[in-house]
This record gives sequence, C-alpha cells and structure tokens, in this order.
Amino acid sequence: MSALQESDWATTLAEATRHFISLLQIDTTNPPGNELPAAQYIAAVLAQHDIESVILESAPRRANLVARLKGDGSLPPMLLMGHMDVVMAEPDKWSHPPFSGHKDASGMIFGRGATDMKQTVTAALATLLLVKQNFHDRGLLPKRDLIFLALADEETGGAYGARWMAENHAALFADAEFALNEGGGIAAEINGVRYMTIQAGEKGTSRFWLRARGTPGHGSVPMPNAGIVRLADAVHRLGSTWLPVHMTATTRGFLEVLAATQSGQAATFFRALLESDDPGVVMQKAPLEPGMQRNLNAVLRNTAMPTIVRSGGQLNVIPDVAEAGIDGRLLPGQSRADFEREIRDVLGSGLADLEIDWATAEPAIALEAELEGPLYTAIQEVMAARAPGTHLLPNLVTGGTDAKAIAPLGIKVFGFSPHPADDLNLFERAHAHDERLHEKSFHYCVRTTYEIVERVISRSV
Ligand SMILES: [Zn+2]
Repeated sequence: MSALQESDWATTLAEATRHFISLLQIDTTNPPGNELPAAQYIAAVLAQHDIESVILESAPRRANLVARLKGDGSLPPMLLMGHMDVVMAEPDKWSHPPFSGHKDASGMIFGRGATDMKQTVTAALATLLLVKQNFHDRGLLPKRDLIFLALADEETGGAYGARWMAENHAALFADAEFALNEGGGIAAEINGVRYMTIQAGEKGTSRFWLRARGTPGHGSVPMPNAGIVRLADAVHRLGSTWLPVHMTATTRGFLEVLAATQSGQAATFFRALLESDDPGVVMQKAPLEPGMQRNLNAVLRNTAMPTIVRSGGQLNVIPDVAEAGIDGRLLPGQSRADFEREIRDVLGSGLADLEIDWATAEPAIALEAELEGPLYTAIQEVMAARAPGTHLLPNLVTGGTDAKAIAPLGIKVFGFSPHPADDLNLFERAHAHDERLHEKSFHYCVRTTYEIVERVISRSV
C-alpha cells in the first residue's frame, strides 16, 4: 500500500483528536452506562465517510455498534474491538472536569476513558476511516473484511455488551480470525530495559465459599475443633501457600523474552525458572521487586485468595458454622477439578470435611492465543520499526476483559493498543483521578494501530 504522506497524517490525526475529545465529553459512566450517544456519535462519523454501521441496544440506552468494511473474501476478517463505557469519576478530585475532554497547553488531554479505553476506540474508528480512504475509495479491496465492534458494559462484566453480543448477534462478527482489544501496548521498564506488553491470555475465575461446620457451644468452654477455628486454619493455609506452578505458553513466552533481554542476576533467574524441574523453588529466591514477584507468582499458578470471612454473632457463643469467600483464578488449560485437587492438597486431611461451594455453576473461562500468526507477526514487525530497542513482552493477565466473551467464538484476541515507550504509567492512570493521555501518545496509538491493520489486511497470508 502507498504510505500516507506526513501532510495527510496531520489532517487525519487532527480529525482523530477531535473525535477522541468528543467521545470523552460523552458521559458513559457505567453504571448506568448510557453508551447510546457514544455509539450514535461513532455511527454519524462513519456515515459521513460512507461507512454503514448498525447499533444494537441490549437495554434502553445500552448500545453496541458494529461496522464492517468488505475485503475481497480471500482471507477471514480481522476485528477491532473496544468498550465505550467508563468507570465513575469524582469530579472534585480532578484538575479538569472528567467529561470535559480538556486539552491543556502541553497537549495533555483529560477525561474519564482517556486511557481506558476511548483512545483505543477512537484509534479503531480512525483506522476504519483510513482503510476506507486508502483502499475502497481507490477501488482497492483488502484481503480481509475489517470489522469494528464498539461495546457497552465492559466495566461491570459485559452482560449488556460483549456477552450479549456474543449470545445474540455473533453472526455479525464471529467469522473474524483474530481481534485487537485493550489490555496491552503498555510500556514498561525493567532494570532499564524497555518493553511493550502484548496481552495474549487471561486467567479464568472460579470463586467459591469454603465452609466449616461444628457443634455450637458456650464460649466459656473452648472447643479447639470448632468450625470457626478450623476455618481460620484453612484461610491461613490458602492465603499463605502458593499452589503448584503450571507453565502456560504465554508465560513461557514472557520469561523467554526476559531471559534474553535482561542481564546479570535477573537473566540467570529467568533462565533458571524456564529450565528448572521445580520452578516453585526457584521463585522463592526471585531477585524481583515485591510487586513483580507477586504478579509473576500469580501468572504461574492457579490462585485461591481469601477475601471474605463470616462467622458468629455473639461474643459468648461458639458458632456452628464459619465460611470464607475465596477468589479463585484458573490458568488456561486448568479445570475446576484440577483446581479443587490443589485446594484439597493445601487443606490436608485434617480439614478434609470442609465444604467447597462454587459461587457459579461454571468457571469463567481462561483464554490464551498462540504467539504466532498474521496479526502477531504484523505487531512484531510494526513495533520493531516504530520502537526499536523496545521488546514485545507477551503477558497473561490475572483479570479479565471483553475477550472472555469473544474468544470462545473461535477468535484469537490480542490485547494491544500501542502507546509510546516513554509513556510509562499509562496503566496506573486508568480508573484513577485525572485520567489523561498526551496528544502525542494518542497520535502514536492511531498511527501504529493503522499500520498494524494495514499490514494484516493487505497481505495474502
Ligand atoms: Zn477497559
């Protein structure tokens, strides 16, 4: 494809910035969501460029938008997905009102959603306009359809957004081979070496109540095996024991990049972790700062963290039941039965009678996309050109995004919304007071997203 001239880019980026600010000015705080005006804004911009879209309302004012630019049909479509809703903001804690879209003299743009994720939604919108202009308006068809999915309700779980779309309107996008979503493209620096994350997987959720029963009695006559005492033992064991290590493909990729790019003690550690028969032991002596060590532990294992404890009601009564809420998270490839076995091992025979009561009938799935294929390759190539010296770092996240609803349709989802390597604390700004993004960082996101998409949809493999 012919590259865009710098003068064309200036016009394109100025227009994209206008759309970004306009979308920031639409209050899509979820709850209640109210994504409809944002979807209508996007539909109007697309219509001005002769691109059709449909808006699907899952509930009054809860809107999802789908648009599709046709390719020649020789390869399956590519999907750009993002959510339009944002989390709440406390205006009195902000330097500029959270729905002002205020741009200060330095070029910093303030607004709830500036980093999560109206910048990415706008970059996808701008990419559609550019593909239309550079392909269709010149009588050219890309190899793949390009689909844009702007969703409601990510921040409270997607029942009105991704999940609803997957259940009711999958035919509009499920033919996509792969998708770009939020979650990666975030710069990080480890021991002075620069990385950019690419989210290739997400852990699943399998929460449960752990319950211990016993005979009630008078508090003046202690009962060492009372339910409340045994539950406390179980909570202590689960909270202080790491479950066994399971190396997933994404985390192996993560460690391989670090082993190859770090030096000294850190490189030795990452290599040892990859090669050891007992990585759990290697982790005990990790030369990492505590935050990174905890995070690495969490992506190497299923986890079961106690978050709620409930028992008793009166100071002189030994209660007959005690229960703890446990936030369980599963790695890709792990079943609930695997998880339960690991939990039972930690509890041991002395606590074998404790009941495990799953909070949901089925676990929320874990997912993982292979670190290969046309999209992954295009990301590698574009980043090598755009950010030489910055290493792409695959990562598995412990939480979840809309990918959980979309990946089960057979779509490989990568979280990659690229930002410059010197924009270092992007992730911390999401959901925080004064959420903001520099205009330059936004422009980078637009250009780089377009470059990746252009490669993917132009190539015949
Ligand atoms: Zn988000």
